[in-house]
Amino acid sequence: MALDSASPKTKLVGLVETLRDMLFPPVCANCRQVGKLICSECYDRIEWVKKPICSCCGRPVISNQVLCKACLDHPMPLKQIRAATVFSEPISTIIHKLKYEGAFGLGHVLADLMISVWHEWKIYVDYVVPIPLHPDREKKRGYNQSALLARWFSQQSGYVYAPDLLKRTRFTAPQVSLNAEERAKNVQNAFAVVGHQFKGKQVLLIDDVCTTGSTLTAAAHVLLDSGATAVSGYCLARAL
Ligand SMILES: [Zn+2]
Ligand SMILES: [Zn+2]
Repeated sequence: MALDSASPKTKLVGLVETLRDMLFPPVCANCRQVGKLICSECYDRIEWVKKPICSCCGRPVISNQVLCKACLDHPMPLKQIRAATVFSEPISTIIHKLKYEGAFGLGHVLADLMISVWHEWKIYVDYVVPIPLHPDREKKRGYNQSALLARWFSQQSGYVYAPDLLKRTRFTAPQVSLNAEERAKNVQNAFAVVGHQFKGKQVLLIDDVCTTGSTLTAAAHVLLDSGATAVSGYCLARAL
């Protein structure tokens, strides 16, 4: 007789998921093909971040460079920034769905992309912290997309998830239409740390997209001021 080790609860969850997929089959967030949230054709088109990269900011460099010119000229407070993918199609469209079209169900599948290449970066982590949204923006959107990524990433990787220890203290304009200087100014003093848990700890900040790194930098400053020994950033996608 075959032994079935699944618990009644696991069987029930499996049954519910099967019924849900029969009634509402997943469609690809990019091309609408029925079957998966990211179909195999779109998955194969994802551009992954490949070495050589700057050891600090994670931008591509020519092979013999350790640091890029930007990091040599203006060293960042972060130990390193890494990203799973390049912000190009189809990831850019899928992130837009996650952020602006209410497709919060994409959080797990996008976090899985981050998990799939995490071993490449070899970063020590005590706490995983999502970049917070201002409470008004989170209320309007219904969720914080970075928190969706960070929570699943932490759960699957076995890290301590600390979503409530970093707060956004003022409302900031969206970074997307600003240049590098404006971005840095826009997020200056926009974050605050709650409590003292980060003292002597290494923190990994999670965000959906990194462009100039100004948001991660502003958050890193307050974490380091609160006693963290190192702050790194890990993003789903890097805009180059
Ligand atoms: Zn597709
Ligand atoms: Zn760099």
